[in-house]
Amino acid sequence: MPSPTFQNYIDGQWVAGKTFENINPADTSDLVGEFVSGTAADMADAVEAASRAFPAWSAMPAPARGALLYRVADGLERKFDQLGEEMTREEGKTLPEAKGEVRRAINIFRYFAGEGSRMPGPVVASERDRVHMWAQRKPVGVVGLITPWNFPIAIPAWKMAPALICGNTIVVKPASVSPLCAWRIVEACREAGIPKGVVNFVAGSGATLGKALIEAPALRAVSFTGSCGVGEWLHAEASKRRLRIQLEMGGKNPTIVLADANFEQAVENTVNAAFFSTGQKCTATSRVIVEGAIYDRFLKALVARTKKLKVGNGLEAGIDIGPAVDQSQLETNLRYIEIGRKEAGEPSCGGHRLTGGDYDKGFFVAPTIFANVTEKMTIAREEIFGPVLSVMRARDFEDAMRIANEIPFGLSSSIQTSNISRVFEFVEQAEAGLLTVNLPSAGVEYQLPFGGSKDSSFGPKEQGPAAMEFYSDWKTIYLKY
Ligand code: NAP
Repeated sequence: MPSPTFQNYIDGQWVAGKTFENINPADTSDLVGEFVSGTAADMADAVEAASRAFPAWSAMPAPARGALLYRVADGLERKFDQLGEEMTREEGKTLPEAKGEVRRAINIFRYFAGEGSRMPGPVVASERDRVHMWAQRKPVGVVGLITPWNFPIAIPAWKMAPALICGNTIVVKPASVSPLCAWRIVEACREAGIPKGVVNFVAGSGATLGKALIEAPALRAVSFTGSCGVGEWLHAEASKRRLRIQLEMGGKNPTIVLADANFEQAVENTVNAAFFSTGQKCTATSRVIVEGAIYDRFLKALVARTKKLKVGNGLEAGIDIGPAVDQSQLETNLRYIEIGRKEAGEPSCGGHRLTGGDYDKGFFVAPTIFANVTEKMTIAREEIFGPVLSVMRARDFEDAMRIANEIPFGLSSSIQTSNISRVFEFVEQAEAGLLTVNLPSAGVEYQLPFGGSKDSSFGPKEQGPAAMEFYSDWKTIYLKY
């Protein structure tokens, strides 16, 4: 059977062109689909279409926009199982993880659909007689949304839904290795009856389309999630035009394990945060900082638990960890493992590509733990974005906090402890936007602000009520009656 071709969606039309392949990283003989590789001209057309659609969409009452977003959520729900399987095939994460992410995308659409009926704005008392004053939200205009491959449905959803409910029109540029999930949301938007031009989709080369997007005259804002290098370039270009910009980028997230922690739970949380989704979560733990008193025992238990993880094709039952997303990420993982060998010696487990049998069909790496990692080592400082964990020793809580904070990133940070005072000290001192206590560092919900600090992020937070800040502006009104 020929593989399906997924076209770009511009001004309510499917647009054809040259294609590129979307391949299953667990089985490279499985072609998920062909996607049209958009050109700079396609991107320019998409921004113009969004600009034409803006007046009518932004004038529609927000609850009516919300009603359409509820229909998008219903459309995704109808394809729930299919979407989960497609995500596992294009990104590699296990089927339960993929279905959990589809559920989250549906919930996000419903959450922001509801915001359409609220759209709160302050009404406050004036100092002047017979003056009524209030502020109301207004949309920004055409917004470009550039998304990464690792959460291929949740991230497009958490940008698209708040952008649309606020009355903006959008152009979505998905990651080239996993564009299908975002395409499915766009399909659901079309089927829900969102008017032409409001939602546009252009897949293809990030460099070509990113440049065309940022140069499009009608563009007003860009929301980007991805690597620091691309984020920095976008920020520099957007600043030249004073475009509104939001960046969510890399991390090197710590989990601190204190001697008083629930030991078994701390092991489980660390393994989950470091290795699930193949370590390809921006909030994954890549450094576990363990108090000296339990260091040896913890390392032993961590290695024993990690060795039990089943790596394989995420579509199969019982698999804990899928493949790296593509050849390039596989090579990055193996390169950092070699750097780790030179810096910290032989890993305590893993340290190689998995081969033989079905492993030869995909990009599988054994979950890898390096012990005795110290602060200056490259593997303790640079984002790897794979199943590679550095174990670091701390003298005490203060030393652990110092190590945790001594990096340029600030996305997520976690502590495992039963000492409530330590918990509050951690909350006060941790230099990160997302904190967890006695939970894995990864695994957030959509109802609260999401985003990092330091070099990990720039601009207003995503998700929860905070998401409205980036996608809207205020209009303040003073009225004499
Ligand atoms: P990436 O290479 O930066 O790509 C992200 C997106 O940007 C893709 O759609 C990519 O398109 C596009 N792009 C590439 N070059 C571009 C350019 N010059 N101009 C505009 N867009 C361009 O990142 P990734 O490898 O997909 O994702 C992994 C990174 O994302 C990690 O660093 C991870 O920490 C970060 N991340 C952060 C968060 C967070 O919330 N902080 C969440 C998830 C992931 P192509 O695919 O066509 O290259």
